[in-house]
Amino acid sequence: MQTVGVDVGGTNIEVGLVGEDHEVLDRGKENTPADGPDAVLDVIAELVAGLDGDPVAVGLGIPGVVHEGRALTVPNLPHWDDPVDLVAGLSQRTGLPVVLGNDGNVGLLGEWLAGAARGVANVLGVWLGTGVGGGLVLDGRPFLGAQGAAGEIGHIVVREGGQLCSCGRRGCVEAYAGRRSMASAVQALVEAGRKTTLEEIQREHDKATMTSGVWQDALEGGDELAREVFATAMDALGVGIGAVLNVLDVELVVIGGGLAEKLGSDLADRIEASTRPWVMRPGPDLRFRVADLGDDSGVVGAAALARSSVISS
Ligand SMILES: [Zn+2]
Repeated sequence: MQTVGVDVGGTNIEVGLVGEDHEVLDRGKENTPADGPDAVLDVIAELVAGLDGDPVAVGLGIPGVVHEGRALTVPNLPHWDDPVDLVAGLSQRTGLPVVLGNDGNVGLLGEWLAGAARGVANVLGVWLGTGVGGGLVLDGRPFLGAQGAAGEIGHIVVREGGQLCSCGRRGCVEAYAGRRSMASAVQALVEAGRKTTLEEIQREHDKATMTSGVWQDALEGGDELAREVFATAMDALGVGIGAVLNVLDVELVVIGGGLAEKLGSDLADRIEASTRPWVMRPGPDLRFRVADLGDDSGVVGAAALARSSVISS
């Protein structure tokens, strides 16, 4: 049985045709349109139609709170103001059954089924992208919470009255560690007269935003300002992850997203170092790892969600 996994991010939409053993057989990618849900659904439908195969269902990971087939809030995508019925919208366009999940949850599902978290009973997933997403596996099962909003580590407040976040509150982890927030911090420092190579590297990469690759080059090149903003991001993440560990005592933290793919185990080590001071009693087996599936975690997890919905229906 083949299913399609769709990973909608703040920057890109990735689509994959996935087989029974979680292998990606074909794939497609487009920029995420900024004109609201209809435009996003049109792009997804085109990408799905372009896949070479015979899928029976579509799983869709969305960066927001998802409950009963509707996306309740999607803070990182413009013009997603009211709850949107994405299941109906996408099944009309593709003629296939559609199941919806939160992007952080489906990313962790992919890693739990076929990647770095395979066989681990208690896991926190942290996804670093335009925003900061998360997911949980507790007692050997994905944990979504009462209304599908569990695992939102990006919106743990780490500084009361701090930086404004995409969710409208202040001082969230994402307001420091999301790539969009990091870019705003860079801009503010540049306007205050600081120098950085980030913007020049961004032009060299020919990118519209400061991508993970741009950050990697600046950090490896020793850019002071980049290191400062990155350190602030890591500190905020450490406080947030520490809070989760104190409540849930998971044994594995999986770090995914573009930055994890670029920086690899160095990033996991760095996040571990900024987390440990905040953990009351770190478990003896507590580990931090980057995602194994790289860019594919979300696609593989979303496709698995689709497969399980077909099997159970
Ligand atoms: Zn927030």
